[in-house]
Amino acid sequence: MRDPTSLLRSATRRAKSDVANKLVSMFLHELSRTVARTWRYRVDGEDYRKLVLQWFENNCPYCSRPLAEPHCIVEHLDGMNRYRAGLHVAGNVLVACKRCNSEKRRDDSLERLLLADSGWASFLAHDGTRCQERCQTCSYWRSIWTDELERKAKLAGNSERIRSFRGAFPEFEAILPAIREALPDALRKLYSDCQAFAQHEIRTLLAAIDTITSNAETEKSGAVGDGQTANGGSPRL
Ligand SMILES: [Zn+2]
Ligand SMILES: [Zn+2]
Repeated sequence: MRDPTSLLRSATRRAKSDVANKLVSMFLHELSRTVARTWRYRVDGEDYRKLVLQWFENNCPYCSRPLAEPHCIVEHLDGMNRYRAGLHVAGNVLVACKRCNSEKRRDDSLERLLLADSGWASFLAHDGTRCQERCQTCSYWRSIWTDELERKAKLAGNSERIRSFRGAFPEFEAILPAIREALPDALRKLYSDCQAFAQHEIRTLLAAIDTITSNAETEKSGAVGDGQTANGGSPRL
């Protein structure tokens, strides 16, 4: 059990990193709009949504369970964070169940992936043979498919189906190598510059507020002194 002080400390840390993460996400969304301006499919179009649902037969692309509102969510194969550098474009966006979307975040948030070269492929690579016993993702897949052979076959099959889905978007496939090459470093820089800027601004503002409050305190004690002089000892109410 963590003590309250460490919880408060981690909440403060998170608040600072949230600003930087938001900036990374804003940049990736803006970049997505720019690169996909002339592409055949728009991710917000109805025809794209239909194509995605048909491709995966109205099932979650990861766990194969049927998709039903309100348990499904828009999902990015390559997550839109500084490590995965995913874009909000056709070929990277699909619809998944909320549970997989949340379980996949563990792989998406790792700086270095050990099981595959992308977050989604890594998520599907937890077949129970390559991780430590207590791996949460391996035990998630064990809870979906208890039989080991079936689990391995389903994970490999879903991975293959996602790979072929990606192949249906040549514009996306064409820019992917350049994105993978250039973006992670650029995003790391954006993230750390934002953190440094936020910390500097907070320190500057805190110092300014500190000056204002200490001036106010000095004036207040000065005002009490003046009052005592003017009223012969007791401040006027
Ligand atoms: Zn799922
Ligand atoms: Zn695992």
